[in-house]
Amino acid sequence: MKLFKQAADMQLYLSKLNLEGKKIGFVPTMGALHNGHISLLQMSKHQCDVSVCSIFVNPTQFNDKKDFDNYPITIGADIRLLENSGCDVLYLAQANEVYPDGTDRLQHYDLGILDNILEGGYRPGHFQGVCQVVHRLLDIVLPDCLFLGQKDYQQCMVIKHLIKLIQNPVKVVIGPTLREASGLAMSSRNQRLSQKQKDQATAIYKMLTHIQATNKSLLPEILVNHATDYLLSNGFHKVDYVTIADCDTLKPATDCWPPRAVALIAAFIGEIRLIDNMIIDV
Ligand code: AMP
Repeated sequence: MKLFKQAADMQLYLSKLNLEGKKIGFVPTMGALHNGHISLLQMSKHQCDVSVCSIFVNPTQFNDKKDFDNYPITIGADIRLLENSGCDVLYLAQANEVYPDGTDRLQHYDLGILDNILEGGYRPGHFQGVCQVVHRLLDIVLPDCLFLGQKDYQQCMVIKHLIKLIQNPVKVVIGPTLREASGLAMSSRNQRLSQKQKDQATAIYKMLTHIQATNKSLLPEILVNHATDYLLSNGFHKVDYVTIADCDTLKPATDCWPPRAVALIAAFIGEIRLIDNMIIDV
């Protein structure tokens, strides 16, 4: 595996491969890697000739400074995992290259309603920060394919929107959410949970599968209320949202089911905010 810290060095290396007609796949991450990240790398390896992973804990997407300060950093283990998983290129992006002019005056992206609902509503500025870093990383890596996880459902919608806005020809490929045997969605933030909290956190998966199994036989709002109550009485002290929404627009459903639905949950266990979602076959 080639490891680059300087964008120019990596660009030189990748441009040669590009000239040879090699297809470049890209998996952007914030590190503290787990098998969910690796599953995206495996998809890239399957579909592309060269797979690039980046690690950069992007400051502009954290609306909560404490969350940023406490974000797990496990760079040595990440490098070993990527090497053992057959990653071709690791880009350890540096803040002064991602944000050469600092982070005070940044471009604004028109994301429409996506900027204000669900994650956008509870984490103001979050998706602007995601767009900042993804735009810059795409310009540096120039990949043919970009691999993203469904775990961050709304983020996938935002990045697809961004790619249209900036007219980037990259193909977006979305991989399924990898879970622990307990159903808990793999997440870097899980490293900050105690074993007891990990057990309690499976309540999210239980509720998503309950909504999926029950679906049309109950109104969305009844399932949403039930799931919220269940989380609050099973270890979660704050629920930002449980919502059942149209898959394509994220418009919330209350008294009737959309043709294609997704259930999305964001809730706090201790200080840790977890998100998850599931497509509902109505
Ligand atoms: P992150 O490091 O959290 O920014 O995530 C980097 C990429 O990995 C994003 O596209 C995430 O959606 C994806 N990802 C995170 N968790 C999982 C998971 N459990 N399964 C599949 N992909 C994931």
